[in-house]
Amino acid sequence: MKYKSTRGIAPEMSASGAIIKGIAADRGLYVPEEFPKLEAFNHMAALDYKSIAAKVLAPYLSEFSAEELKECIDGAYDGKYSVPEIVPVRKAGGAYFLELYHGPTAAFKDMALQLMPRLLVKSMEKNHEDKTVVILVSTSGDTGTAALKGFENVPGTQIVVFFPDGAVSPVQERQMRTASGSNAHVFSILGNFDDAQTTQKQILSDDVLLKEMEAAGFTFSAANSMNVGRLIPQIVYYVWGYLKMVTDDGAIFPGDPINICVPSGNFGNILSAYYAMRMGVPVKKLICASNKNKVLTDFMNTGIYDANREFFVTNSPSMDILISSNLERLLYHLADEDAAEVRSLMDQLSETGRYQVSEKVFEKLSKLFAAGYADEDEINAAIGDLYAEEGYLMDTHTAVGYKVWKDYAERTGDYTPTLIASTASPYKFAASIAGSIGIEPGADEFDTIERLFIATGYPVPSGLAGLKDRPVVHKEAIKREDMKERVKKLLGL
Ligand SMILES: *Cc1c(COP(=O)(O)O)cnc(C)c1O
Repeated sequence: MKYKSTRGIAPEMSASGAIIKGIAADRGLYVPEEFPKLEAFNHMAALDYKSIAAKVLAPYLSEFSAEELKECIDGAYDGKYSVPEIVPVRKAGGAYFLELYHGPTAAFKDMALQLMPRLLVKSMEKNHEDKTVVILVSTSGDTGTAALKGFENVPGTQIVVFFPDGAVSPVQERQMRTASGSNAHVFSILGNFDDAQTTQKQILSDDVLLKEMEAAGFTFSAANSMNVGRLIPQIVYYVWGYLKMVTDDGAIFPGDPINICVPSGNFGNILSAYYAMRMGVPVKKLICASNKNKVLTDFMNTGIYDANREFFVTNSPSMDILISSNLERLLYHLADEDAAEVRSLMDQLSETGRYQVSEKVFEKLSKLFAAGYADEDEINAAIGDLYAEEGYLMDTHTAVGYKVWKDYAERTGDYTPTLIASTASPYKFAASIAGSIGIEPGADEFDTIERLFIATGYPVPSGLAGLKDRPVVHKEAIKREDMKERVKKLLGL
């Protein structure tokens, strides 16, 4: 399997090459040259999560032997999840929640970020890469934490995380500022997520800096979902979720279509659902759910992407994004891999913050995708209602998905059984959740977590236990203009 750049200029890469590089030299994103078809799909229903992962991932990682792949998968999922099935699918409110948050940092990012560092280390071996890989991460909260955990003390790597100052939840901030890996570097930046990600992309493709790095024995990579090593592992759980809907209480018969609803920010998670569909998972609609930063919803409804708008800090901070990187990959696929068209759209985006897709692309988009958004009051109400009615507790991001799905079903009458990506533990956003279900918040976030536990009996994720007492080691807040200098300084350049 080869990987191509969405902008069509950078050369093709093997999987290992694409994982090491993170972003293509022409600033495009790597995409697989084809979508392998799932073989004997319905017979996979009896397999466990790791076995399904091996089957789904193998064709994408054709350079990796079955043993190498197994070693990576075992390392990523054995003993790391608080539930034996790794990803439970639970029915509530008429939908099926794909609970992706039972890993070490209590958000779905662990699903890929436990596996990707292992793939990266093997990729470095395969490419005889003896430089230190410097992994840059811009994060709206959960990616940073999961990447710090996934890359903790991984030999041959340094990890540098930038998150927007004051715009992540207190638990997320504490998780990052207390990261203890000897290769961990964490900074908050005075700006929003888009500022961090845009500057990160500039750093990753700064030719002068790249030469300096090279000479000093360093090379860059990215752990954001711009790295295809993040997207591919995420396909697995949609295949798994579909099969669980077949086997658990027979929600569907094999071959029946489902809808998949994903609370979206950088568009990586829902893109992986699209990839699962391209591989053969029967999907009728992909429902893209936004919070008040509804740039994606507006795009889905009009074909116009316009990032020139007010930015809101909301109670679902991991979705507070106006420039959704992975949309570039979808555009490439929908435009029948016309890289020139993608380049033109992305140039317009960087010059004017806006673009409009062709009729042809818009038609395909509208056929497959539906979209909607929920504001903070609606999010809180959705959490409160579902908890009151069925005792099922969602985090704020998942609640965006639930509310948008409900609106969609009521609006269209399409009650196709729906899988909703449940992206984080409610405990990561304890204050919002407590408020939504009528519990007085405590003196601090940790006190609130305790109260939430007493009131609901939902187990507190092990990754959050003890967080309060961990020493804060990363205290710096910097300007976005200083990101590059700060990276150079910590590398001694
Ligand atoms: C990252 C994140 C999202 C958004 O996922 P994307 O892949 O960026 O679209 C949604 N919810 C939570 C909890 C997240 O951490």
